[in-house]
Amino acid sequence: MQNECSECNASLETNQTKCAYCGTTRQNFDEQLLVELAAIKRKYELAFSRGNKLIAAPLLADEYTYILSDGGVVEEPRNKNAVLSSAGLDTNFNSYNIYNEELLERTADRVVISCVQNTVRRTPYDGEFTSYISRTKLTFVYREGRWQIAAEDCISIDEYGEVIL
Ligand SMILES: [Zn+2]
Repeated sequence: MQNECSECNASLETNQTKCAYCGTTRQNFDEQLLVELAAIKRKYELAFSRGNKLIAAPLLADEYTYILSDGGVVEEPRNKNAVLSSAGLDTNFNSYNIYNEELLERTADRVVISCVQNTVRRTPYDGEFTSYISRTKLTFVYREGRWQIAAEDCISIDEYGEVIL
């Protein structure tokens, strides 16, 4: 992510697409969008792990669907209500990260990205940290002036990127 103008090196705001000094239009607008969407997902995951539904709920579109394929088994899709009703303070949660974001589709009000998500958890057994990694397709929709997460399609992978079977 660039925070300065490619022509005159003036510093730019995160959501600024045109330099106020020399008028250069930012070339990496897609990158800016990916940063914004990843931040929304990160905010959602942190709120969810704390059981904070007041923050988590508005980040999900009404049609939100979560699908996980884990160990070769595709679990039953879960809708927004089912997912939110399972949110509570998760003391087993350690950290969440999202990376390798790539834009797959983009229209004015709908964006699909691929990414890798890594949730690090404390095992209940020996206090060590265990990663839950997934290759994910995330769909976002733009409504009432903001992006919401509309679908999440996850496949469990190991730390080498191989699908866990
Ligand atoms: Zn400039």
